[in-house]
Amino acid sequence: MKLKLTIGHMYPDLLNLYGDGGNVRCLEKRLLWRGMEVETVSFYVGEHLDLSGVDILLLGGGSDREQAIASRYLLENRKAIAGYVEGNGVLLAVCGGYQLLGNYYRTENETLNGLKLLDIYTEWEPKRLTGNVILKTSMASMPVVGFENHGGRTHIGRYRPFGKILQGFGNTGNSGYEGVLYKNAVGTYLHGPLLPKNPELGDYFIRQALRRKYGIRAGLAPLSDEAECRANRYMAARCGQT
Ligand code: GLN
Repeated sequence: MKLKLTIGHMYPDLLNLYGDGGNVRCLEKRLLWRGMEVETVSFYVGEHLDLSGVDILLLGGGSDREQAIASRYLLENRKAIAGYVEGNGVLLAVCGGYQLLGNYYRTENETLNGLKLLDIYTEWEPKRLTGNVILKTSMASMPVVGFENHGGRTHIGRYRPFGKILQGFGNTGNSGYEGVLYKNAVGTYLHGPLLPKNPELGDYFIRQALRRKYGIRAGLAPLSDEAECRANRYMAARCGQT
């Protein structure tokens, strides 16, 4: 039997700032390179969201304007998304998508209702938090390298963060932590091609999804990841983390 995972990409035309969709391409490749099958299903606003066949779900980031549109449609599908996350579905929610997992996002002009999957909240401040980020997470042995650009500050209370900041701003600019980790859901401010530069993270999501779908606990066949690790090391060194 060939193993197969289905990737769900939510609102790729609306929430895809800085190429967050590159994370989908990365997961597809890492599955195919190992002889597994993969199918990607894109969900668009206004469509009924059926996550019953989805193994990994990606929710990207967007501007405040795009988030305002997305939030309306997300809320219509709250039950499906909450059921998926509570049922240990693997979710990567980036920046604007991360903010919308919480209770609300108060922008400069309005308050957007969040999905209330997590008891966290985000409030806008005029100084944008922008730049390269390096963090340490329990999900990878290498440092995680990425890029952030957000006006919102996310307060995660007692939840587990995704990582500890070595360089950059993270959730609030002064908490010392970045993102959130809940069951198999990760919310993070790290934008764009996060998984290609951090191959261990991509494999973490794949392992969790295989475990949930097939009960498989075995490790994954190693890939060379030479270019990926070089990109990671280059960014870490550029930020003074060697
Ligand atoms: N609009 C949100 C903010 O500025 C999220 C931005 C993003 O997804 N980059 O905080």
